[in-house]
Amino acid sequence: MAHKVEKTFKFVIVGGGIAGVTCVEQLSSQIPSAEVALITAGPHIKAVTNYKQVSKVLEEFDVEERPSSVLEEKFPNLMVIHSAVKSLHTQSHSVETADGRVFGYEKLCICSGGRPKLLTQENPYVLGIRDTDSAQELQKRLSKAKRIVVVGNGGIALELVYEVEGCEVIWAVKDKAIGNTFFDAGAAQFLIPSLEADKPERAAPCKRPRYTTEEPAAGASQTFTADRNSRGRNSGPTEPGSALGPDWHEGIALRGAEQLYRRVSVEYQCEVEKIFTSEELLDSQQQTLRPENVGSWPVYIQLTNGKTFGCEFVVSATGVVPNTEPFLHGNNFALADDGGLRVDDHMMTSELDVYAAGDVCTACWEHSPLWQQMRLWTQARQMGWYAGRCMAAHVLSEPIELDFCFELFSHITKFFNYKVVLLGKFNGQGLGPDHELLVRCTKGREYVKVVLSGGRMVGVVLIGETDLEETFENLILNQMDLTPYGEELLNPNIDIEDYFD
Ligand code: FAD
Repeated sequence: MAHKVEKTFKFVIVGGGIAGVTCVEQLSSQIPSAEVALITAGPHIKAVTNYKQVSKVLEEFDVEERPSSVLEEKFPNLMVIHSAVKSLHTQSHSVETADGRVFGYEKLCICSGGRPKLLTQENPYVLGIRDTDSAQELQKRLSKAKRIVVVGNGGIALELVYEVEGCEVIWAVKDKAIGNTFFDAGAAQFLIPSLEADKPERAAPCKRPRYTTEEPAAGASQTFTADRNSRGRNSGPTEPGSALGPDWHEGIALRGAEQLYRRVSVEYQCEVEKIFTSEELLDSQQQTLRPENVGSWPVYIQLTNGKTFGCEFVVSATGVVPNTEPFLHGNNFALADDGGLRVDDHMMTSELDVYAAGDVCTACWEHSPLWQQMRLWTQARQMGWYAGRCMAAHVLSEPIELDFCFELFSHITKFFNYKVVLLGKFNGQGLGPDHELLVRCTKGREYVKVVLSGGRMVGVVLIGETDLEETFENLILNQMDLTPYGEELLNPNIDIEDYFD
C-alpha cells in the first residue's frame, strides 16, 4: 500500500445510510470510550426519526437526511470521514479512501448499500432512482415529459406509477400482476382501481375463502386513466422538505408536461428487448419495429411482447445490486448468488473482523421459517443495530444470540395510499403447494389475506385500515392450531381480537 496509516480506530463503519448510521449509534452508545470512524461517500447521513414499535415485531419510522455533524455532536468519540472507500486490505486491517487517506481498524462493518440495477449502463435516456439526487433528476426530466416508460415491478415502480401526474406512463412488468415483489394477484386486483378514476365505493365485504383471480394473458395490456377532477381522497398535499426515505416522493412533485392527471398502461409479462434512440430506430432495417410516430420521441423501447413505445425517458426500477466492488479486490469474500456479501448469524463476512449490514449483505444463516431477507429500510436498521451489538459483544468477549427481530418478517408501508402490513411468509414464499389461503376483500377499503400451513398461520397481507396486525402477529408467533376456526378467522362480524383474548 502506497500511503501510511493515518489513524487506527477500534471500529470503522463504511456507509452513512440507515444500516451504517444505526451501527455507529449502537456501538457509540454501548462502548462510549471506543474510537469510531464513519466513512461515507455522500455529504449527508441518513437518520431514523420518529421510531415507533407498533407491536412485538412491527416497527415504523421516518428517514431523514442530516448533516453528519449531528452525529459527531452526539458522540464525541466519532469521526465522520467524507470520502468513498476505494480499497480494503483485510490482511493489514486498513481501508484506503478516494482522497488517498488510509485508516486502520480493529473491526470493520461494510454498510455500502446497493445501486440500481440499470437496464443498460450509460444511456442518457435510462434513469435509475436511488438517492435524493437521482430523484431530483427524475423530477426535472419529468416536468418536460409527455410519456415515460417505467420498467420493474417492485416497491419503487409501484410508488412511481401512482405518484406521477401529467404524464402518460407505460408500465412494463415481467409478471402476471402488478407489485409481484410484495403481493399476489388478488392484492394486485384490489389495488388496480386506484390507478383509475377515483370513485369511493362501499361494497359489502365479499368473503373469498379460497382465492382465484383472473390473470392477464401474456403480453396483455390494461390502461387506467384518472382525470384531474377525480383525485379525491387519494391525493394528499405534498410536504416540502422531506428527504428521500420511505416517503421519498412526498417532497417531490412528480408532474409531467401534460394536462391529464394520470394515465397508466400496464404491459404484463414482458421485459425489455432493446432500447433505441430515434436515429437508431430510423436506421434500423427492422421495419416491423417502427411505430407510426417514429422520430417524434427521443428514445424507443422494444418489449419482449413485440410492442415498441416512444417516450421521453425510461425509468429502470428493476431492483438493486449490492455495492461490493471497492471491497473485493485482493480479498477473499464469500458472495451470495445475488452478489451480496455473505454474512452469518453474527453479521460476520468470511473475512476476519469484517462485518456487513443492510443492502450490501446477504443473510446466509439458517433463517427462521417465518423470516426472509428483503432489501428494505426496516431490515437495514435491524441489521445495522444487530451488527453493532455483535461487534461490541465480540470486543467485550460477551455471548450474543440472533435477535428476535429475525424471527418473523415484518414490514409496514404504503402503496397507492393504502396502509400495507406484511408479516411472515406473506406470499407463501417457499411453502410450495402445501398451504392454504383465506382472503377477505372489500373493494376500495381493505384486502386481508392469511396464509395457513398445517392449520397454523404463517403469513399475512393486510391492505387498508384493518386493525388486525397485532392479533395476527400473535397468532403467527404462537403458532396455535387454527383448524377449528376455519373460515371464521376472517368473518368480518366477529371481533377477532376478543375471540383470541
Ligand atoms: P444505503 O441507504 O444505500 O446507504 C449506503 C451508504 O453507503 C450511502 O451513504 C453511500 O453514500 C455509502 N457508500 C456506498 N459506497 C461507498 C464507498 N465505497 N465508500 C463509502 N461510502 C459508500 N425501503 C423501504 O423499506 N421502504 C420504502 O418505501 C423504500 N423506498 C425506497 C425508494 C427508493 C427510491 C429506493 C432507492 C429505495 C427504497 N427502499 C425502501 C429501500 C431502502 O432504501 C434500502 O433498503 C435502504 O436504504 C438500505 O440501507 P443501507 O444503509 O443498507 O444502504
